[in-house]
Amino acid sequence: MHDIAGFLESLPVRLWIDGSEVPARDGKTFSVHNPATGEVLVDVVDATQWDGDAALDAAAVAQPTWAATPPRRRAEILHRAWELVESRGDEFALLITLEMGKPLGESHAEVTYGGEFLRWFSEEAVRINGRYTRSPTGNGRILVTREPLGITLAITPWNFPLAMGTRKIAPALAAGCTVIVKPAQETPLTMLLLAQVLADAGLPPGVLSVLPTSSPASLTDHMLTDRRLRKITFTGSTRVGKLLLSQAARGVLRTSMELGGNAPFVVFADADLDAAVDGAMAAKMRNNGEACTAANRIYVENSIRREFTRRITTRMRNLEVGAGYRAESQVGPLISADHRARVAELVDDAVSTGAVVTTGGKPIEGSGYFYEPTVLADVPAHARILKEEIFGPVAAIAGFDGDEQGISAANDTQYGLAAYIYTSSLDRALLMSDALEAGMIGINRGIISDVAAPFGGVKQSGLGRESGSEGINEYLETKYIALP
Ligand code: NAD
Repeated sequence: MHDIAGFLESLPVRLWIDGSEVPARDGKTFSVHNPATGEVLVDVVDATQWDGDAALDAAAVAQPTWAATPPRRRAEILHRAWELVESRGDEFALLITLEMGKPLGESHAEVTYGGEFLRWFSEEAVRINGRYTRSPTGNGRILVTREPLGITLAITPWNFPLAMGTRKIAPALAAGCTVIVKPAQETPLTMLLLAQVLADAGLPPGVLSVLPTSSPASLTDHMLTDRRLRKITFTGSTRVGKLLLSQAARGVLRTSMELGGNAPFVVFADADLDAAVDGAMAAKMRNNGEACTAANRIYVENSIRREFTRRITTRMRNLEVGAGYRAESQVGPLISADHRARVAELVDDAVSTGAVVTTGGKPIEGSGYFYEPTVLADVPAHARILKEEIFGPVAAIAGFDGDEQGISAANDTQYGLAAYIYTSSLDRALLMSDALEAGMIGINRGIISDVAAPFGGVKQSGLGRESGSEGINEYLETKYIALP
């Protein structure tokens, strides 16, 4: 179908610093694997602290010029990059599937979604505004401007190798910041390709660097001590986010944190059941279940729980599991053997506490890191699977009765990223939207991500918002100028 070997040979595998590819200084590389087979795809140069310094040096040189580059010019580069990502969509999609595992159709959807951030923020670059007022006393004028924050370190996860990068890079560049990206070690290839595309679009040297590494902690801890760095933006687990927040405190850096989720998916008895099952499948199975917005806890009102469970069980049982680059695959492998073992552990724990497996329930034997699409019914409230992020193709269902129980079950978590409600009552939808502690609420919708909407969480799901007209604020500093 695809000449995968030839494609892999054409990929950039060296660091991207100061507008060019940089080889390993001491010959050190690390392997990127295909999660569908466990085999090595390619070896990538392994960035060291020295490379972190080189990227910071290049960014420090580029920062003043980039900040002073006319917004229209910054916008044109981003827009051109969007066009190039679109035109090379097949390559990006195949690459995402190869290194991350999701089915090719979903990778194409990520290319569209990820590319859109470049287009959206090209449009925002020319709309950065400030304000002017008279002082209330009448003794002076107030001018407020917004300036680029400066050098930004962006750390991204493996689950959306393109979109989690562009959702940070595009607003930062639009605002006039330089960016150093440290992609996840499982999926560095997509970001390296994007760096070339941005350079082709006209991005000057030094404005963007990409540093894959097998030692993220030592590289970023070192970079976070550099006083030239002004901002860290992170997407990943809450555990690592907390660590980075404490490290960022040393330099009082501006921080944006897109962290873990544990989304409730609450189905009321008055919901359109077909729509609720469709929505649950989308919210659960998008990205092999490896999405921070994934429906982690499916609460169904008891009077319809049995029927809902029956329907979702049939749908999950009929899913085609296989390598993402096979045309018929609907569910790909999990990212790694370790991650699959964690999913299996959560399922086993749920079963040991009384949950009932209605389909699936086991890892799939053979090469690659596949896990059976699984439905767990009657999951008790104390099961770990309702408290921790599953990040896999496992639907955990529990019952409830009435609005109050629905609200307290949904809010019973340290996380607050996404929440989903299915009901045909507008009053109930509004009541729940007010009551649920989440940064994003889907009403009768299983997919909520939108380039034009603010993405982010409350509680331990994070700080700040990405995308939407809010997204660029994360990269701007407010300055007040007092005038006579
Ligand atoms: P992770 O926290 O293990 O890793 C994320 C990134 O941090 C990777 O680049 C990794 O190399 C790096 N990293 C790990 N340890 C580090 C350290 N000590 N210092 C510096 N960098 C370090 O998360 P993951 O497994 O890659 O991604 C899954 C997690 O990401 C899930 O919890 C998911 O919910 C979350 N996520 C959140 C969002 C969101 O927008 N809120 C989006 C996607 C994923």
